[in-house]
Amino acid sequence: MTKNILLLPGDGIGQEVVRETVKIINWFNENKGLDFTTETGLIGGCAYDETGSPLPDTTIAQAKKADAILLGAVGGPKWDDIDFAVKPERGLLGIRSELGLFANLRPAIAFDALVDASSLKEELIKGLDIMIVRELTGGIYFGQPRGIEEKDGVRTGYNTLVYTDAEVQRIARIAFDLAGKRGGRVCSVDKANVLESTLMWREEVIKVGAEYPNIELSHMYVDNAAMQLVRSPKQFDVIVTTNMFGDILSDCAAMLTGSLGMLPSASLGAKGADGKMPALYEPVHGSAPDIAGQNIANPIATILSFGMMLRYSFGLLEEADMLETAIQKVLASGLRTGDIAKAGETPISTTEMGDAIIRELG
Ligand code: NAD
Repeated sequence: MTKNILLLPGDGIGQEVVRETVKIINWFNENKGLDFTTETGLIGGCAYDETGSPLPDTTIAQAKKADAILLGAVGGPKWDDIDFAVKPERGLLGIRSELGLFANLRPAIAFDALVDASSLKEELIKGLDIMIVRELTGGIYFGQPRGIEEKDGVRTGYNTLVYTDAEVQRIARIAFDLAGKRGGRVCSVDKANVLESTLMWREEVIKVGAEYPNIELSHMYVDNAAMQLVRSPKQFDVIVTTNMFGDILSDCAAMLTGSLGMLPSASLGAKGADGKMPALYEPVHGSAPDIAGQNIANPIATILSFGMMLRYSFGLLEEADMLETAIQKVLASGLRTGDIAKAGETPISTTEMGDAIIRELG
């Protein structure tokens, strides 16, 4: 069946890493009988330069039509001084909200060949495979009322941490469904001893958990979860948590594995009446202006993001496994881009890394 992928390369190294991923998409078309069509759109600084908006209406229309979206990165110093409302990063927030992407999936996987890139001991990291599921459109980042006020000479800054039962239930279902396809365990992270909103979170997660008798559910306070992530990260399978806790814990978990150039992500929305699930896949890193245009960026985070697309949007599990194995093999053979190369190793280019992965796939 034909699947339409919208490519939004964006700015800086976004262009280079998406270009390598397109080679992989084409390889699957040519060698595995798949039928992906691609279309390219504008987002971020390059969209602002061309249209005056970091998220033009044409991009929104393309995104709503596509079966899945692959994004590179947005931003850069060129746009530092423009109005806040049209900054490149507003394009990213805009597309997430236009598509209602409420679930952010951030895997933290330690590749065997790179275990020594972690700041933790090898035995804590080897074989690590965690999935953090972060609620993305609710919680304290969006709750009302919010603001900074001054009254009788006292300045007050405030935000509101609010979740509805439906918001908690839908993110919990994503986590339980994922756990069913992985290690069968969900740890829900909250601060139920202090925050009523997260006590309600815990109660709703337990209710949803009752629908999944084969999944083991545990709960952890966020302060303990942060500690456990660096003490003994392999104890986790799927972690599900609120927007702010997930923001912090997913960066912490990501860094357990070493390099920003290796980290993929997916943001998923609710299935529509047509059965289509809005989904955007992107590397965790930014546009890396310091190395942009030099053909030295690591394309693996973006290629792994395409792997997540194969798995979660298209159910192509075998193809996703195949791609991940090819990347493992390339790393095991000692090929490295600059960000993951050790002292004394000669790094390969972005293009060479893409070519090496294709050779392994073959
Ligand atoms: P960054 O992720 O772009 O770069 C941080 C460091 O990591 C840099 O030294 C960079 O060279 C290196 N790096 C990142 N990705 C790499 C890769 N694939 N291969 C090799 N090295 C890599 O973060 P930053 O410097 O804080 O931000 C730069 C710009 O990107 C800013 O405008 C920021 O707003 C934007 N940004 C965008 C996103 C996004 O599009 N999702 C995310 C974060 C930052």
